[in-house]
Amino acid sequence: MKSPLLRFTDKGIYCEVAGVYLDPWKAVDKAIISHGHSDHSRWGHQQYITHHNNVPILKHRLGDIVVSGKNWEEPFTINNVKFSLHPAGHIVGSSQIRVEHQGEVWVFTGDYKIEDDGLATPYQPVKCHTFITECTFGLPAFLWRPQREVVDDINQWWATNKTNGQTSVLFGYTLGKAQRLLKHLDTSIGKIYTHGAVENMTEVLRPIITLPPTERITGDTKKEALKGNLVLAPPSAHGSTWIRKLVPYVTATASGWMAFRGARRRRAIDKGFVLSDHCDWPGLLSAIKATGAEKVICTHGYTEIFSKYLREQGYDARTESTQFEGEAAEVNVTQDQVETA
Ligand SMILES: [Zn+2]
Repeated sequence: MKSPLLRFTDKGIYCEVAGVYLDPWKAVDKAIISHGHSDHSRWGHQQYITHHNNVPILKHRLGDIVVSGKNWEEPFTINNVKFSLHPAGHIVGSSQIRVEHQGEVWVFTGDYKIEDDGLATPYQPVKCHTFITECTFGLPAFLWRPQREVVDDINQWWATNKTNGQTSVLFGYTLGKAQRLLKHLDTSIGKIYTHGAVENMTEVLRPIITLPPTERITGDTKKEALKGNLVLAPPSAHGSTWIRKLVPYVTATASGWMAFRGARRRRAIDKGFVLSDHCDWPGLLSAIKATGAEKVICTHGYTEIFSKYLREQGYDARTESTQFEGEAAEVNVTQDQVETA
């Protein structure tokens, strides 16, 4: 039996014919990188290949690396294996990686979402025989509302806090979520301030995407100036000495995990908005169908439940363990806490 085009090894997803790894979690010679989140783009590879919008992100995170940037759908061949990158819609510069050899096509999604967030190049389905998919939110209870509605709720929350004379502190991942929130905040309500980590990453992305102005909070920032305005901060800032200086403030977080009953309270956050950079349940299913793939490999998230469901639908589906985390590191949750309302 000939060995599969992509194999799961202790270093990562390996294309043996090409001698290339996809998003490896251990140091390798040659790596094709789907996107800039730390569980997919690790330090120590000799050579990185990624979408050109992800190049400044990788350099910001990993320092002086050897990296080459590709355009969407630009084919490149390594040892007779044809590769190309296709939009994954997860964050700016996030790609699905298409691998073709002797008429056989595999696609690796990295992380992805199918809703156009107005920031990342929108997801495009790619036809393939084998589809390697994440399923971070692969449970039927995960059903996202349209971004427009969630963003309206966030702006309404900000406006109410302003009326109450409070500072709104909104938590979101430094890379991706923070800029997505920033893009859709209503600057007619007030000014947007940033935590240093958010500001640094936003500066990296400004040449690529259009975003409203922000002001970095420094030691000189006066509490009075913040009142009624909004502060974008990473989740790790919650409970820090940094945030205590912002009083009076109210907190909110924007994450897919806010769909879990108790997730907001456990983290002692005043308000939770369900906004994810991953597919919900119907999103995963429609994405898989659109590929035309018969074989599906589930890498991270609710892999067992999701792949079992796919097998019931007639797919040749299985799971493989990886070191990808999706948004899982943010909060520990169990299935019985899913909001079903
Ligand atoms: Zn990611």
